[in-house]
Amino acid sequence: IVILGIESSCDDTSAAVIRDGVILSNVIANQSVHERYGGVVPELASRAHQQNIIPVVHDALKQAGVSKDELSAIAFTRGPGLLGSLLVGTSFAKGFSTALHIPMIDVNHLQAHVLAHFIKESEEDDSQPDFPFLCLLVSGGNSQIILVKSYNNMEIIGQTIDDAAGEAFDKCAKVMGLGYPGGPVVDRLAKQGDPQKFVFSKPHVGGYDYSFSGLKTSFLYFLRDSLKTDSEFIEKNRADLCASLQKTIIDILMDKLYHAAKDLHIKEVAVAGGVSANSGLRDAFEKYAKKYHWKIHIPKFSYTTDNAAMVAITGYYKYLDNDFCSPDVAPYARVAI
Ligand code: ATP
Ligand code: FE
Repeated sequence: IVILGIESSCDDTSAAVIRDGVILSNVIANQSVHERYGGVVPELASRAHQQNIIPVVHDALKQAGVSKDELSAIAFTRGPGLLGSLLVGTSFAKGFSTALHIPMIDVNHLQAHVLAHFIKESEEDDSQPDFPFLCLLVSGGNSQIILVKSYNNMEIIGQTIDDAAGEAFDKCAKVMGLGYPGGPVVDRLAKQGDPQKFVFSKPHVGGYDYSFSGLKTSFLYFLRDSLKTDSEFIEKNRADLCASLQKTIIDILMDKLYHAAKDLHIKEVAVAGGVSANSGLRDAFEKYAKKYHWKIHIPKFSYTTDNAAMVAITGYYKYLDNDFCSPDVAPYARVAI
C-alpha cells in the first residue's frame, strides 16, 4: 500500500510517500515570507502553498522512486489549521485523487503529530510505541496530554486553558527580539545560559491541564522592570533569560505529565509536535525515563514540526480501516483530536 501524504495546515508545504508504513520520502518547503512580519500571515501562507504544492509533490514522488500510478490513496490534512492554507492541500488532494481514480483520506493534524511515532525508517524498524501510551503533544497551537489507546482512539486528558507551550516560547522570544519562530533560537541560546538565574511564576491549574499565559505576562513584566534600571538588560542576560525561561516551561510540562503517568500507571511515554525538537525537553524525557523507568519515544527531528510523513502514516492506518472520505469534504479550522 502506497500513500501520498499532503500537509498544508500552517506555513509548511509538505508531501511524503509511505509504502506499507515505511518512509520513502518527506519533502518540506518552509515559507520564509513570514519572518519579517514576526508571525504567519495567513493570506501569504496560502499563496505560498499554491506555489509550492506541485513541485513539492513532484519531488516527493521522485525521491520515493514511485510513479503516481502506484499510489493507493492520497491522505491530506483536513484540519485544524489556517483555513486558506488547508484549502490548498485539500483542493490538490481532490484534483489528484479524481484524476488518478484513487480514494482520499482526510487526516486530523493533531492525530498525525501523535502517529508520527509509527513511521518506520525501514522494514526492520520496530521502535513503535505499544498501546496504551501517553503522548505529550506540544506545538505552536496545542499543549495536551493524550492517552493513546489505539491508532484511532485517543483521549485528551489534559490541555492548555490558554496559550500553547510553543506560543510561550515564541512570544517570549519575540519580546527579547529573537525573531520568529523564536522557539529554536531560545533552545540554542539556552545552552550557554544558567537555568537557575531567574525564577518565573508557575501556573496553578487543576488536573492535568496547562496554562502558559501567566508565564508570558510575568516574563514581559520582569523584562520591562529590569529595562528601567538597565537599558541593556536583555543583551547582557540573553542566554540566562533563555535558559531560565526554557527550564520553567519544561518543568511545567513534565510535572503534569509525571502525575498523569503515575495516576494511570503508564510507563510508556511519548512526546510529539514542534516543541519536541527542544533539546532541554528531550533531556528531561531521558532523565524521567531513568528515574521512573519510563519507556520513552522521542521523534526524529524531521517529524517534530509540521511534515507530511505523519499525515501519510495516519492515512496508512486509516486505509487499513477502509476509512476514506467523500470527494466533497471541506477543511475545518478547529477540531479536537
Ligand atoms: P499545531 O500543530 O498545534 O497546529 P503548528 O503546526 O504551528 O501548531 P508545529 O509546527 O508542530 O506547530 O510546531 C511549531 C512550534 O514549535 C513553534 O512554536 C516553534 O517555536 C516550536 N519549536 C520548534 N523547535 C523548537 C525548539 N527547538 N525549542 C522550542 N520550541 C520549538
Ligand atoms: Fe503542527
